[in-house]
Amino acid sequence: MSERIIFRHALLPGGWAENAAISYENGVITNVETGVAGGSGLALPGMANLHSHSFQRAMAGRAELRGPTADSFWTWRELMYRLALSLDPDDVQAIAALAFTEMLEGGFTSVAEFHYLHHGPDGAPYADIAEMAARLAAAAAETGIELLLLPVFYAHSGFGGQAPTEGQRRFVNSLDSYAKLHARCRALSATGCAPHSLRAATLDEITALTQLNGAAPFHIHISEQTAEVESCLAFSGARPVEYLLANAPVSSNWCLVHATHITAAEAMDMAKTNAVAGLCPITEANLGDGIFPAQHFTGAYGIGSDSNVLIDAGRELQMLEYSQRLGQRQRNVMATATIRPTATALYQHAASGGAQAVGLGHGLVAGAPASFVGIAGETPEEALADALFTARATAVRDVWVRGRHVVENGRHRHAAQARAKFETVLRKRL
Ligand code: ZN
Repeated sequence: MSERIIFRHALLPGGWAENAAISYENGVITNVETGVAGGSGLALPGMANLHSHSFQRAMAGRAELRGPTADSFWTWRELMYRLALSLDPDDVQAIAALAFTEMLEGGFTSVAEFHYLHHGPDGAPYADIAEMAARLAAAAAETGIELLLLPVFYAHSGFGGQAPTEGQRRFVNSLDSYAKLHARCRALSATGCAPHSLRAATLDEITALTQLNGAAPFHIHISEQTAEVESCLAFSGARPVEYLLANAPVSSNWCLVHATHITAAEAMDMAKTNAVAGLCPITEANLGDGIFPAQHFTGAYGIGSDSNVLIDAGRELQMLEYSQRLGQRQRNVMATATIRPTATALYQHAASGGAQAVGLGHGLVAGAPASFVGIAGETPEEALADALFTARATAVRDVWVRGRHVVENGRHRHAAQARAKFETVLRKRL
């Protein structure tokens, strides 16, 4: 059945349009017509959350305490491993359902789950090797978010194919067991492929994975930490992005997650591949990773909530802009010559790059998924700037995913239930 919603303004690929009617059928936009009176509010194209580890939502707010030594990404990772080792499939589903509910309420319409918690607590695969992935798919179906599964290939603890550690036993696969996992994931959901990092997968393994994956999204963590850059230099004589670009067929279906520590030359070469830079500004700030050198990068980028310490598309874009301002001591850094209002430029670029990274059609145009976000406001530029920079609460009012109205008046209908199940999981662990 065809449906139509009229907005006072809508953010189309070419910019803001007045009186826009969006028609859709079977989850796909069939027509966008302007000059149709009678609408209210502002429509934004759907936003992909291009990088999430949903189980880490259970750690949010619980790692903000100084340890006996200087805290870093690596001390945080110890805590994260302890959590990962303690979760069962029911826990994983309950945590993901809350994270996905918050993503929808925070203005994300799809999510790429960079999923590495595969096996049972002793490291042995479940009877269904994709048991945990199936739980993520179930959580996505419960909440209505569009899911891209990125089953993670994880085989080593460091450069040069080092053996994995005991704490990594739930993540580890051989190429053979991974092929089974990947095939099962494909039966569950849209599926791409994700070697965890250059630490966890060798170049030969990455090459084998690209063949298994075909043209689907292909994501990898890269250059998040300076220690990783140093290890890569010691191992190969090259920096991580430099090493990857020289040795792997990086192209437009790739997403280089973080790419925080890159030189101007690496940024330029990365843009030439048409890969997406997967930026996770809130997590990168929370973990003390560093600042992405946006001043050197002209390619596509999108945003991800990664560790899920705070889930909100607007706040993620705000952090992206503010980190650039702090680093460069300038204002309106992410605006461009063609899109001068900063909030609109951030939103357009992140929505477009995010869609590319998760392998979805993009924008409020015929043929794209009927996934969009409604916010309140009269004048579009100001309303979006308010939503990103001044609002004390999320400005997201309504969210449609594939034509389903999943958030109404700022709330997901299962939010209270998802929260209650999540609290039960946390109580069990205390
Ligand atoms: Zn990550």
